[in-house]
Amino acid sequence: MSGAAVAAAVRVLRSGHLAQGHEVAAFEHEFGEQLGHRYCVAVNSGTTALWLTLSALGIGPGDEVITTAFTFGATAAAIHLTGATTVFADIDADTLCLDPAAAAAAITPRTAAIMPVHLYGHPAPMDQITDLATRYGLAVVEDAAQAHGASLRGTPTGAFGHAGAFSFYATKNMTSIEGGMITTADAELAHRARLLRNQGMDTDRGTPYHYDIVGVNGRMNDVAAAVARTELAALRARTDARRRHATQLNHNLAALPGIRTPIQRPGAQHVYHQYVIRLHDGPPRRTHLQRALRHARISSAVHYPVPLHRSRAYFTNTNLPNSDLAARQVLSLPVHPALAGVALDRIINTVASALVKRASVAAMPDGAATLATRPAS
Ligand SMILES: *Cc1c(COP(=O)(O)O)cnc(C)c1O
Repeated sequence: MSGAAVAAAVRVLRSGHLAQGHEVAAFEHEFGEQLGHRYCVAVNSGTTALWLTLSALGIGPGDEVITTAFTFGATAAAIHLTGATTVFADIDADTLCLDPAAAAAAITPRTAAIMPVHLYGHPAPMDQITDLATRYGLAVVEDAAQAHGASLRGTPTGAFGHAGAFSFYATKNMTSIEGGMITTADAELAHRARLLRNQGMDTDRGTPYHYDIVGVNGRMNDVAAAVARTELAALRARTDARRRHATQLNHNLAALPGIRTPIQRPGAQHVYHQYVIRLHDGPPRRTHLQRALRHARISSAVHYPVPLHRSRAYFTNTNLPNSDLAARQVLSLPVHPALAGVALDRIINTVASALVKRASVAAMPDGAATLATRPAS
C-alpha cells in the first residue's frame, strides 16, 4: 500500500465513521468522473457487482446468459447466483475475448443477456456484441473486473453495455482490498442496484426498515473507499507504466521461437492487468519455461488452466476449441507498475534463454544436446 493509502485508511479509522458513508459517495463520484461513467454504485466485491447488476436487470430463473468459459470463475458464479443458466460461447483466437460469431450462434429464445469479459485488460469487441444485443433485444453486462481505464475507440470499458462491473480486489489494477463497482448510464438501473446492495431499503427516501425489494448486504465500507480513492488517483500513471512494460516485453519477446506475444486491436487501449504470452507447443514447453522462471525467482502464472466448461462446478458438454487451446498455451509474466528496468531485462533474458535453448535442443541430432544447452556467447 502507498503512504497515501495508509494515511487515508488511518484518517477514516480515526474518524469513527467506518460503514458506507461520505468516502463511498466521494469514491463513486470520482470514479465516474475519471473513467467516464454516468452512475457508479460501489459494492463489496466484483462478484457482487456482477451478481447485483444481473439481478437489477431482472435476470433470473428461466433466463440464459451467454458468456465466455475462459475467465475467472466469478463471471459464471454471478449468473448462477441469479438462478439463470450460463451458456458458454467460444473465444476469439487472437484476443481470447468472447467471439461475437460464437455468441450469436448461442442465442436461443431464452437468452436474456450477453456478458463479455475484457480479459487481461483488453476490451472485448463491443461494437459487434452491442449490435448483436440490439438485434435480439438482449442486455449487455460487461465484466470489466480486469479493465480499469481500458477503452475502445475512446469509449471506456463498462460504458458500452447496459452496465459494467469492476473489481477492486487486492491484485487488480486498482484496489480497495476487496470491493467492486457497478457502472451504468441508466438511472433506474443504478437505483435498483443501490437498493439491492442495502437489503432492499431505500435509505435516500429516509425510510429504513422498509423493504421495497429483496436485497443483500453488498455495501462497500468507508475505509475501503478511502483506500480506493488514493488508488484511483494513481491509476493513470500506473496504467501507463503497465503499458510501457508491455511494449518493452513485446519488443524483446515477439521474435522468440514458439511463442506469441499479446496483441492490441486497432482502436483498443489495453491496460495489461495481465501480460500473457502463448506457447504454441502447450504444457511441456510452458512447464519448462515456468521452471526456468521460478529458478530465476521470477513469478509467472497460468490464467486460466481450466476453462469453466471443464470445471466441476460449471461443467457442460459444449465444444469450445479455442478456449481449450488457450488454457494449454497461456502464461502470464510480471507486468506490474513497480517493475524496474533491470527486472524487465531479467525477465526478457530468462524467457529468451529458456526458449532458445529448448529450440536448439529440439533441433539438434542426438548427442549434440549437451553442446546446445551451453549459453550462447
Ligand atoms: C477478479 C474478477 C472477478 C471478481 O472480482 P472479485 O472482486 O474478486 O469478486 C470477476 N471477473 C473477473 C474476470 C475477474 O478477474
